[in-house]
Amino acid sequence: MNIELSPMNLPHEEYRPILIAGPCAAESEEQVFETAKQLKERGINIFRAGIWKPRTKPGTFDGYGEQAMPWLLQVKNVLRMAVATEVATPEHVKCALQGGVDILWIGARTTANPFAVQQIADALRGTDVQVLVKNPINPDLELWIGAIERLANAGVHRLGAVHRGFSTYGQSIYRNSPMWKIPIELRRRIPELPIICDPSHMGGKRELVAPISQQAMDMGFDGLMIESHHKPDEAMSDSNQQVTPDVLAYILSLLVIRENTASTEDISLLRRKIDEIDIRLIELLASRMEVSREVGQFKKEHNVSVLQTGRYNEILEKRGEQAASCGLGSEFVQSIFKLIHEESVLQQTRFINNK
Ligand code: PEP
Ligand code: MN
Repeated sequence: MNIELSPMNLPHEEYRPILIAGPCAAESEEQVFETAKQLKERGINIFRAGIWKPRTKPGTFDGYGEQAMPWLLQVKNVLRMAVATEVATPEHVKCALQGGVDILWIGARTTANPFAVQQIADALRGTDVQVLVKNPINPDLELWIGAIERLANAGVHRLGAVHRGFSTYGQSIYRNSPMWKIPIELRRRIPELPIICDPSHMGGKRELVAPISQQAMDMGFDGLMIESHHKPDEAMSDSNQQVTPDVLAYILSLLVIRENTASTEDISLLRRKIDEIDIRLIELLASRMEVSREVGQFKKEHNVSVLQTGRYNEILEKRGEQAASCGLGSEFVQSIFKLIHEESVLQQTRFINNK
């Protein structure tokens, strides 16, 4: 890979963290200006607002498009903030460049589509605008890097990445799972590329914005992109995750920005990896118990007893063998599975007797 990237050149007072904030979507001139003004008063210099919104379902609010461009420009010209918006097509790029938008970002759904990214890259050829590339919705680092490469190959040299988490199936505390090891690997592969974390789309709820932001800072990420709305409860999209500028300022005031010394960074990277694995272990255990209750249902319908010692022995034996082949102690893993099996039997017994 041959990407040469210059450091992000954004109007921020101190290098770290770069702060980008603003509503999910531009909804009206008043909403845009009022939110931006309150953010500016609280020290934010880069304003975000989507004017073309990629929505999962048709018939939902998908942004005001070009009509909203003057609202962004007012923020740029009157409040003297840098403005950022999402682009998904060459037409969006053209309109945003003509308007003088300072930072373009490529959304997660677009990054996942190499044709779309290539078209955007071609439309950006010969320009000097700052471009941020959100991770693709699926956890695929190569696809993320591929999008960055397409832009770099088209001569876009002011680049950054935005980590907004990855789509997963099933229950999770996150709207989009962080899977920190992916942006960490991105950092290892392209160390000069600034990485900004978007805790809003990752957490999907207000109360997760602060802890995720702190995690991102602890991992040495360069900045944060946070959704903020002057009246979040009335937001036309992503209402649950938007915070008022006041709350945002409070969250930022609590952030601990540690020095990026190798030793503390290394240990927090490793701890985050462990946290993430533990979260996955618990999610897997919950899915296992769910299947176990389905087995209980079957046993009830077919009048089979809960405890099947043959199956129990088989599980212990097989798990013990697999443990040994993975370099784990068989006894250690078998003792975990004894506990899991005990809980599973308990749940099935309860199920059979209650329903
Ligand atoms: C957004 O930033 O409003 C957005 C649509 O994000 P993503 O592409 O990460 O879903
Ligand atoms: Mn949003």
